[in-house]
Amino acid sequence: MAHVWSTCSTGCFDACLMESVVQRKELKEINPCEEHPITSGLLCPKGNKFLKYLYHPYRIKSPMAGAGFRWEPVDWSQALGRVSLAVEENPGKIAFLTGRGNRGLLSTLFPERIMGALNAYPFRSGFCRGNGEKALDAMGWTDRQMDPRRIGEMKQVVFWGTNPKWSSLHHWFLVLKHKLRILSIDPLKTVTLKDSDDILRPRPGTDHFLAWAMARIFLEESWEDEPEGFVHAEERERLKSWLLERVSLEEAAEITGISQESMRRTLLGLLRNGPGYFVLGAGLQRYNHGGETIRAVASLAALIGYDLSYQRDEEGEGERYLAGGTLREGYPTHELFRWIDEGKVKVLFVFNANPVSTHPDSNTVKAALMKEGLTVIVSDLFFTDTTKFAHLILPSTSFFEHSDLVKSPWHPFLQINQRAVEPLHLSRSLTDQFREIAKALKLEDPSLQESDEELISGYLSRTGLDREELMREGFVPFRKERVGEEPITLFFPPEGELPEEPLLDCEVVPEGAYRLISPGHRDLVSSQFFKITTNFLPDRVFVNAEEARKADLKSGDRVRVFNQRGAAEMTLEVKNEVPSGAILIYKAPWESQAGYSPNLFTDDTPSTAYKGTGFYSTFVWFEKLEERAGAS
Ligand code: SF4
Repeated sequence: MAHVWSTCSTGCFDACLMESVVQRKELKEINPCEEHPITSGLLCPKGNKFLKYLYHPYRIKSPMAGAGFRWEPVDWSQALGRVSLAVEENPGKIAFLTGRGNRGLLSTLFPERIMGALNAYPFRSGFCRGNGEKALDAMGWTDRQMDPRRIGEMKQVVFWGTNPKWSSLHHWFLVLKHKLRILSIDPLKTVTLKDSDDILRPRPGTDHFLAWAMARIFLEESWEDEPEGFVHAEERERLKSWLLERVSLEEAAEITGISQESMRRTLLGLLRNGPGYFVLGAGLQRYNHGGETIRAVASLAALIGYDLSYQRDEEGEGERYLAGGTLREGYPTHELFRWIDEGKVKVLFVFNANPVSTHPDSNTVKAALMKEGLTVIVSDLFFTDTTKFAHLILPSTSFFEHSDLVKSPWHPFLQINQRAVEPLHLSRSLTDQFREIAKALKLEDPSLQESDEELISGYLSRTGLDREELMREGFVPFRKERVGEEPITLFFPPEGELPEEPLLDCEVVPEGAYRLISPGHRDLVSSQFFKITTNFLPDRVFVNAEEARKADLKSGDRVRVFNQRGAAEMTLEVKNEVPSGAILIYKAPWESQAGYSPNLFTDDTPSTAYKGTGFYSTFVWFEKLEERAGAS
């Protein structure tokens, strides 16, 4: 019986550490690490399905070649021959698209080293957090990430636009363990809101008004034991003048649906109950004005002296070494599909991503991938919505079948993932696949053939992290507990690409339309997991009872959901947790399996200034399709 360290690399930011038990070359048990400060002996419902995931009968078993939705198995030498041919025939027209479907550093960055050697155009999907990252960088929060090791010093947490009971279970349990007071702010009545001490439910897309109004109340009134905050006195005064001129409390109350009294009471609670921190969720930034929302909420935190917790991938010398340092600048992903259409890209590699499911405006993505003359090469474990459009499918390993290093974008630990079992069927790790591609293309640079062991050693020597401790404990801290003391910036330099002063507006809702909210579901981490989910309702659209009554609909009615980009037939379910004026469809199901994806409706136009994607700035209509069976 052998025991090895495994790290969940599925795309979730908790990055759980597990001890895998292997007997006769088979994975028998997966035990969450008790000693890891975040994992603390607990896996989520997705983690408890990992054995099923590894040995799932639908795994892709060999390379497949074909087109037009028909493929046949080929061996690896034939597959590599096809890759070489496509690349050699299309110099200067190679691109790759990668995403967060895998958190392994080797699995994500080493393939980029090979892509750099081919001078390929990089497209990395990071649209969920793009708006917020840009705003937080401009404000100087980058080095001030709240470290979860400091939670014991805190008394209050504010979950704003996030549902940790589903999306970050370990953060939720840490907060409970340390008995923090919980304020949740979210238009959706999530399971987190139901278990919070205080809640606010602003109308969707109005959080920036709420934050600025609370900032105005804070700056206008005098408070006992007023906190110092993290803002320069001049910026504080400048913001006060801007708020007095631009933000009317009456108007903010009307727009957000939160009374001035509730705002004042909430603020008073935060001032009394601190020290504390805000947790910024992806939901908050998934609007066209998401960057400005993050700016407003982060400004409020800085004014009242609250820390911020958010997810971001840090790139240091170790990451640059793994990626090889020869890549061009990355391009926004929506450009890729236009470039394909214009013939600028003829060969597309896709790995760690399922863009047909996860990218906004999936009909545009599908049309691009079917472009005559384009060769699509997809590496994955399962047949996804994207492999349907591939000319070559390369079977990849799960994290139990390869070695890797994993860094969480939230907690400060680098973790080891050791190969537990040999690759199943004919699957190969991404590092093996791309080493073989480099060999087939006769790329002679020896760095393109570095082994996984050499890559791990190279990373550790550049970051100065302790190899012995990593192998013994399974994790080592990569961040100091306290960093960054510089004040936060509220107004950006006039010559920058971001607006100097905050932008303050609200979206106009088209006549009769509903805002589409598409949050993650508890059982789905990245779209690649949809195949193994058992208890997920496949085609449900949720509205609250008042909206259902207005439309003369009941739970179980079939409806057609549509807008100018797409349409799907779905079953309506009444759920009072959904705010008025909105409908909810969970993200990540595959259209090929569930018959719908929320990205049939979403718009890929980059948001103003920040260039992130406004998934929640999508409006749809719905109409009844048929009478409920048995209805009188
Ligand atoms: S999905 Fe997240 S919470 Fe679940 S096992 Fe993986 S890292 Fe842990």
